[in-house]
Amino acid sequence: MGDKPDLIPGIYNYCDRWCERCAYTSCCLQFQIESEETSSGDALQNFDALNARFWEDMSEALVQAMCLLREMAAQHGIDPEDLDKETAFSELQENLHRNAREHPCAAAALVYSGMVNEWFVAVDEFSEAEESLLTNYPRSLDEHLQVIRHYQYFIYPKLVRALEGRMDELFIADHELQSDANGTAKVALITMDRSLAAWSVLYAEYPAHEDTTLSILVHLDRLRRSIEVVFPAARAFIRPGLDS
Ligand code: SF4
Repeated sequence: MGDKPDLIPGIYNYCDRWCERCAYTSCCLQFQIESEETSSGDALQNFDALNARFWEDMSEALVQAMCLLREMAAQHGIDPEDLDKETAFSELQENLHRNAREHPCAAAALVYSGMVNEWFVAVDEFSEAEESLLTNYPRSLDEHLQVIRHYQYFIYPKLVRALEGRMDELFIADHELQSDANGTAKVALITMDRSLAAWSVLYAEYPAHEDTTLSILVHLDRLRRSIEVVFPAARAFIRPGLDS
């Protein structure tokens, strides 16, 4: 670190491990060790700027996605706010005393991974395209499909780690804002935000599958709000280098 003053210590601890889309490769020791790109600082900075724009666009899409989700759910007679917060909170807290892998949020994350696979299989079955959507993304949807697939299996292990951390905190009565549990939960929340934004685009693009897509959107939105109940301080966690 001594001869690399631009490196941000620990930035890789709470990132989404998507280095190809990261806007901070020039500040990340982990990336530079793995890619052996230590000497091409300018190239990395240009690469980072491009990726920063990609995520800015994606965060604007999330705002639109949330409006769309509320509208679509209302049209289909689904109330996305129907999570009974009192019951949900006590149940979610009770489950903190059990194995993190058995927690309802972890289980819901696993269900989400399966729903994603089922959606791709259903679209393939319905499609007349020769190549599978799993391996051949249409150019116009490439980025959104990449987002969904990259985070599909990322959310569950992050939630298990965050829940295990929260259980330890309960044991030692330590609820620091800057705890590993909050930081890990924040990364999971961000990946859910981005996945929701991507799914809202697919909802419009695949009208024949809108019921299935809407189920995924509602499921993921509920999981996201449950995580915000279990980790109320997670969004305020400051990730080294990634949050200003
Ligand atoms: S901070 Fe960026 S470059 Fe570093 S490990 Fe995370 S995603 Fe990769």
